[in-house]
Amino acid sequence: MSENQLSILLVDDDPALRRLLSQQVRLAGYTVREANDGREAYDAILAECPDMLVTDWNMPAIDGPDLCRKLRQSQLPHYLYILMLTAKSDSNDLIEGIEAGADDFLSKPVRPGELVARLHAGARMVRLEKSLRQMSERDSLTGVLNRRMFQNLIEREWNRASRHVLPLSCVLLDIDFFKKINDEHGHAVGDAALVAVANILKEECRPSDYICRYGGEEFLALLTQTDEEGAARWAERVRVILAEQVIKANDKHLRLTISLGVAQKLADTANPERLIDLADQCLLVAKQSGRNRVVRFSALQDSLLDPFNQGHRHPLFGVLARDVMSTLVLCLHQDDRVQQAAEHVLQIRTGSVPVVDDDGHVVGVITEKDIMALAVEEGGWDHTIREVMEKNVVSYEENAPAKEIFDFLCRVSIRRVLVVEHGRPVGVISRESFLRWFGNWMAAHDGPSDGLDEQAMQRVGLTKIAEALAERSAEMKSHLATEHDDFIPYVVGEATRMQELLNDLLGHCQQARLPV
Ligand code: GH3
Ligand code: MG
Ligand code: MG
Repeated sequence: MSENQLSILLVDDDPALRRLLSQQVRLAGYTVREANDGREAYDAILAECPDMLVTDWNMPAIDGPDLCRKLRQSQLPHYLYILMLTAKSDSNDLIEGIEAGADDFLSKPVRPGELVARLHAGARMVRLEKSLRQMSERDSLTGVLNRRMFQNLIEREWNRASRHVLPLSCVLLDIDFFKKINDEHGHAVGDAALVAVANILKEECRPSDYICRYGGEEFLALLTQTDEEGAARWAERVRVILAEQVIKANDKHLRLTISLGVAQKLADTANPERLIDLADQCLLVAKQSGRNRVVRFSALQDSLLDPFNQGHRHPLFGVLARDVMSTLVLCLHQDDRVQQAAEHVLQIRTGSVPVVDDDGHVVGVITEKDIMALAVEEGGWDHTIREVMEKNVVSYEENAPAKEIFDFLCRVSIRRVLVVEHGRPVGVISRESFLRWFGNWMAAHDGPSDGLDEQAMQRVGLTKIAEALAERSAEMKSHLATEHDDFIPYVVGEATRMQELLNDLLGHCQQARLPV
């Protein structure tokens, strides 16, 4: 069926008349389905709604007006234009027909040409309704669903999935560095790239899925009857297609990548908004860990709550990543062997080590767990780190606001992030870093309240940290003088803790400088 061809369902209990009319309508360029009676017509319409219905008035079981009433009360995907055939000409009958929901009438016997003429008149209305619907439901640039329409659809699919216990997943995706495309090639090329991306998304999904333009260069896919596993496979396929394809945007040939977050409706997912929010969290992790990748919610489940009241200035106000981080003591090169990683991990007693390339830029991280898994594999330790490392590393520049990192660690199950300076690793911030930081912060603010002013209280807090630092330093001095074991792990461990205390001292000074 061509896009412009309208579809018609013709219902009449007289097979000879039905055949005759059906032939006339088909010759006039419409596609036609037939039904014997009202009940059959009703079922056929619910299964696939035509553009127009031509129905007889008198039929067994459900007659024409009853059929109209039932249809007008049903939730059909679009307006159904109804033309009723009748031998009745009494105006009371016509009033009943109109009130039942018919749009037009045609008297029996039907004169040649009159049915088609009436249908053409109805078709003008149907086409107008279609284009208005298109405008109100679709994004005008890309033709995918707009956000408002999507809101209705996700509500409907959510209820269906709950009722029939069906899986439902959502994928939120955002074009990477899209601003650069606009900046380099102009807005019109940016627009054409958005259209190309939307077309690929449309091509790659099933008829039962929905694609929506969620924001500027952000799209949302709702995949019905699909669990997280299936949705992640879809997301990965789309990611690869886009990363490998040269996109033709006006007269430019572009390459672009996308980042994707994937979440599934779970028993404890409160509502559709929450499902989208979960996918958004995953998208955030995908962006923070290097872009051009898919992140699934099952990877980031537990979360902490923001323990601070709204309204008060957050203790992390004005604090930067570098004020909270612990300095990094070791990086590995991607071409190092896993065995070397094992030795280093043992020596400095750390759970994970960042991996860098020749330029010193972060390309991954290797964890104690990865190394252990390889220890039982034959030749496992001979692999290069590049082959086995985890490539999703979340990193922040050292001058990023610490509050942003705190919020991130509250929302996701990742326990630590890397701090970088122009892409080169310089430190680590973990949940423990923040807990320690807040512990000190509270100690500095909650000192004895016996008449001490704020400054004096801060002095008490700072003194405590200075004492801890002095104790550690004295202990190290005596350890080095008396113990003759391998001092490296000891010194690295102690120095790391002392470094954290120094950071705390600096952090408090920064707080003290800010107006309360
Ligand atoms: P990131 O990888 O972090 O997503 O970087 P980005 O540059 O894609 O992200 P950012 O959100 O900073 O920029 C999005 C840009 O998308 C900014 C805006 O100008 C552009 N944009 C939004 N809507 C449209 C549109 O309809 N047409 C065009 N051409 N550009 C758009
Ligand atoms: Mg973007
Ligand atoms: Mg964006």
